[in-house]
Amino acid sequence: MKGDLLKKELDIFTFYDLLQHFPYRHIDKTEIRKINEITPATEYIQVAGKIISSEVIGERRGKRLVAELTDGTGTLELVWFQGINWVEKNIRPGEQLLVFGKISFFMGSPQITHPETEIYTPEKSDGKKFLEPVYPTTEKLKVRGLNGRQIGKLVFTLLEMLQEKDMPENIPDHILSPLQFPSRYKAYNDIHFPSDNIVYESALDRLKFEELFIAQVRLHLLKLNRHRYTKGIVFKEVGNLFNTFYHDYLPFRLTGAQKKVLKEIRQDTARGYQMNRLLQGDVGSGKTIVALLSMLLAADNGFQSCLMAPTEILAQQHFQNISSLLKDMPVATALLTGSTRKAERNKILTKVAEGKTHLLIGTHALLEDQVQFHNLGLAIVDEQHRFGVAQRAKLWSKNEVPPHVLVMTATPIPRTLAMTAYGDLDYSVMDELPPGRQAITTVHRYDDARSQVMDFIKAEIKKGRQAYIIFPLIEESSKLAYEDLMKGYENVKAYFPEPPYWISMVHGRMPTEQKEVNMQRFVQNDTQIMVSTTVIEVGVNVPNASVMVIESAEKFGLSQLHQLRGRVGRGADKSYCILLSGKKLTADARERIKIMCATTDGFVIAEKDLELRGPGDIEGTRQSGMLNFKLASIVKDKHMVDLAKEKAEFLLKEDADLSTSVNLKLKNFLMQQKGQTLWSKIS
Ligand code: ADP
Ligand code: MG
Repeated sequence: MKGDLLKKELDIFTFYDLLQHFPYRHIDKTEIRKINEITPATEYIQVAGKIISSEVIGERRGKRLVAELTDGTGTLELVWFQGINWVEKNIRPGEQLLVFGKISFFMGSPQITHPETEIYTPEKSDGKKFLEPVYPTTEKLKVRGLNGRQIGKLVFTLLEMLQEKDMPENIPDHILSPLQFPSRYKAYNDIHFPSDNIVYESALDRLKFEELFIAQVRLHLLKLNRHRYTKGIVFKEVGNLFNTFYHDYLPFRLTGAQKKVLKEIRQDTARGYQMNRLLQGDVGSGKTIVALLSMLLAADNGFQSCLMAPTEILAQQHFQNISSLLKDMPVATALLTGSTRKAERNKILTKVAEGKTHLLIGTHALLEDQVQFHNLGLAIVDEQHRFGVAQRAKLWSKNEVPPHVLVMTATPIPRTLAMTAYGDLDYSVMDELPPGRQAITTVHRYDDARSQVMDFIKAEIKKGRQAYIIFPLIEESSKLAYEDLMKGYENVKAYFPEPPYWISMVHGRMPTEQKEVNMQRFVQNDTQIMVSTTVIEVGVNVPNASVMVIESAEKFGLSQLHQLRGRVGRGADKSYCILLSGKKLTADARERIKIMCATTDGFVIAEKDLELRGPGDIEGTRQSGMLNFKLASIVKDKHMVDLAKEKAEFLLKEDADLSTSVNLKLKNFLMQQKGQTLWSKIS
């Protein structure tokens, strides 16, 4: 019965699960306090004293036994609703008792309901020194008599039954001993029943390290094995196309970060295994040129490549941008999207299949079965999080030997998160913006300053600039939010009558064609204002736009705000981001707005986002199963994540197959655990 309840309520199926049901804190029962020390902030307390009265009062459900205890400094009420007969016999006036429990206040005086009691003999209780665990439990379990203390008893009994050999060590000695962590057996004992805080902390550290270390070993094994066993295309040389473009066509000098990433890609693609690389670069860090140079590297080695963008607008922008960068170079480039006409499409498909097209740029349309390459060597996915894993996998299957894969994302991922969620991928960061960018000024204004904000937009438009006004249509299907947007649009129109002003509007409910027309008008500066939902969040590049107004900014998450702001500050002009909100803000919303006003560094913002929201909510990691650590936190235990990674790398560098005897215990453990965790992979 209780077993069933444990399964249902706490997911405890096995003895091992029970051992992993960790206490969330411990109570120090070694300390005896005075009754007059009790304050409204006191939670649990242990006192020693004499019973001065005891009586049963009330009737039926209100029936209870109330006793009074004094220790000379004050009196404390002890109350029992259950087991009254037993208590009546044992708790009598004159009795010396040691009492422990949770303090509550009734009519201003402190009391403990159902305290733990025992006869108090000062000499005897001196040696009694341990911290008592407090376990998470549920109301349902409590009613059935399985409160935190009962769970503690189960764990205690279990631990008494188990011996060192039942909980074999899983971390090799050469890793474990220099770190001075306790053994696995000792750690499990101490985390439940520590003799003091120091012992508890080191048990906790050991088990946190174990979680992170095992996860890192698994990730590195995945990566190593991909490198060792998946055959990949080799890009032998840097050839004419790359060099000519680099020396004669590149309109600027690459940033250090761009160079570093290109070098990593160059090395990866020459090694003979399939590259599977995640490229993180903040908005505006210049990922497109890295993509183009990588594609030229593929072409130099006789391979085709493709670049896939999440929207038609972005695919078109990439195509125009890349075509104009390549000018007259002998590189055949084509654009394929959902709206490519049939005759045109057939022509493109033939050329791609014959290998006459070198660079194919497009949307999801690239994934369709009719798209057959002659020899696809490199597949690039821009703005990663809009594509599902299954969709990406379709791309790689377009070639017998899987093409190299470069996934580019503009949503910075905090370092520790990337290490744990994407640790099996090759991974590059571009943490540098091209020179000459003017910092975007971000300010927070309340709704009642809207007319000043609109005046400010007018002044910018007068200078020839353009502006975005974003509404929080977070659920594109929500009717209410849609009405808000329409109201907002009417409101904007009232400030900016057509003519002389012109306004574009784009939202998710609009037919694709209309969206594109409206977007295109803004791109060409036929309209000065873009009223939109977050559909324009990703990638859109209109360098002439200098103002980003975000309505109801409190409703957006940090990474979304950062993405939206990234739409301005793309040209040489000074740009502004104005966050509008109501006056009533939650603490979290206020914090988000504060962070946005304080920094434009996407990595700082991503770290804060992780702190505020926790890893469970970060885009793309929800199902990964890799962040479900019971004890370790990738926010609070950053140094431990680093340590685990370093140790795992060191270990596998020496012994990639875990074949030496010292690593056998780890190997056995991993084999046992196999299949228990879901691993997310980009490919
Ligand atoms: P993102 O990483 O957001 O995709 P883009 O590739 O669109 O960024 O680049 C943003 C802008 O910066 C583009 O106008 C591009 O031409 C410019 N750019 C990229 N690299 C450099 C560089 N090294 N120096 C100067 N400008 C650059
Ligand atoms: Mg981009």
